[in-house]
Amino acid sequence: MALVRSGNKQKILEAGSQFNPVFDTEYKPGDTCKYEGIYKCTGCDKEVTIANGKTIPPQNHHQHSVSQGNIRWKLFVYAQ
Ligand SMILES: [Zn+2]
Repeated sequence: MALVRSGNKQKILEAGSQFNPVFDTEYKPGDTCKYEGIYKCTGCDKEVTIANGKTIPPQNHHQHSVSQGNIRWKLFVYAQ
């Protein structure tokens, strides 16, 4: 069962589920995350799958323009 974030709302599309704060945690490059799943970069919407090890990709994973700001990852799909 995968939980999917709906747009910018902290809403999980699973019957009976409630607001889940795991989708609001931002991770910096190289951080260790708590959950396996698909993470999305808040600056450019690039997606990455985090599995074993649960380590967020390093700073050099991809490049941002100045307007995109720092690379920050947020959980997008939570693999349960
Ligand atoms: Zn990015």
